[in-house]
Amino acid sequence: SKPIVAIVGRPNVGKSTLFNRLAGERIAIVEDTPGVTRDRIYADVEWLNHSFTLIDTGGIEPNSDDIILSQMKKQAEIAIETADVVIFLVDVKQGLTDSDHEVANMLRKSHKPVVLAVNKVDNMIKDNLDVYEFYNLGLGDPIPISAAQPLGLGDMLDKVIEHF
Ligand code: GDP
Ligand code: MG
Repeated sequence: SKPIVAIVGRPNVGKSTLFNRLAGERIAIVEDTPGVTRDRIYADVEWLNHSFTLIDTGGIEPNSDDIILSQMKKQAEIAIETADVVIFLVDVKQGLTDSDHEVANMLRKSHKPVVLAVNKVDNMIKDNLDVYEFYNLGLGDPIPISAAQPLGLGDMLDKVIEHF
């Protein structure tokens, strides 16, 4: 069956925006399947003759910081377990946070291939230097992207399919 690619990261980094962008444009949608649980959504997508199933995580909107953190970890854990490749999404505007480090530690333990994507790099020149701090996560080269613009998604997907 197809490789599974999960988008993982703390709330508000832009996971759903990226998911919708990849499922809706640039890539042919083969099939959309509503998630079996409320907090996961699947789409079958294609990039350069590679088909894969993309998973969005984090659909629940928790209302306290404690719940946010525990939900994030639970959802991330399930997604990481399921995934063949993980897109770890962080936010250049927010910068590196404790929650990013928490997710990074989970990813290291999983030994799954990780593509570290730094979202909200809406201006590749202006925001470029702010991308470097994410090297501190120890998960390789951070790939600058903007899910909103969109920018850098092709470079990111090239890295993803290298792991298939
Ligand atoms: P999630 O919680 O990780 O799923 O994040 P969302 O996709 O819901 O996005 C959180 C917020 O970030 C929303 O207000 C988005 O419009 C915004 N956002 C997402 N991607 C980008 C981006 O590339 N640039 C900017 N400036 N904002 C973005
Ligand atoms: Mg979301």
